[in-house]
Amino acid sequence: MALLGWPKTIKWSDFGSPRGAVPSSYGGSHTDCHIGISIDYSWQGTQRVTPGGDYRLRNVKVVVTIDSSETWVLTGVPTASNQARVLKHEQGHFNIAGITARDVDRALAALRDSDSDALEASARDVADGIIASGQAEEDTYDDDPANGGTDHGNDVTQQATWNSKIAAANSLSSLP
Ligand SMILES: [Zn+2]
Repeated sequence: MALLGWPKTIKWSDFGSPRGAVPSSYGGSHTDCHIGISIDYSWQGTQRVTPGGDYRLRNVKVVVTIDSSETWVLTGVPTASNQARVLKHEQGHFNIAGITARDVDRALAALRDSDSDALEASARDVADGIIASGQAEEDTYDDDPANGGTDHGNDVTQQATWNSKIAAANSLSSLP
């Protein structure tokens, strides 16, 4: 059981050299900066918990990384007067991903099955399901305040609420 890459404090240098225009590959609506985050999980086969007993996954590993090809910031954003507030919003995205990854790590480590193949199949389903829930949480975080979101961090009151909830969250289930 291992979680790598999180917690981590992100910096503007993680966003690469500021660029003059939104990348043409970007289809979203948050147009001054964007952080792309990958959650990758793996294990090395299975092993019995006790002789003749149920199987568990061996050496579960979950890694959170910033996907540099999808992470960018426009010129002027890292030096603007509100840059700390914007970076804090992006840190929230990264922390939601970290909370998601920790949930995956815990869930995979806790799985047991009397059938080794069934264990590995259900492990992929469990992990992919948690990652999908985490992505839904990322989307809600950016959504309109009427839907419980921060409007990409523009709603200062909602952002403060999310900052507190993210800081206190033990798992995805404790986020809004
Ligand atoms: Zn956002």
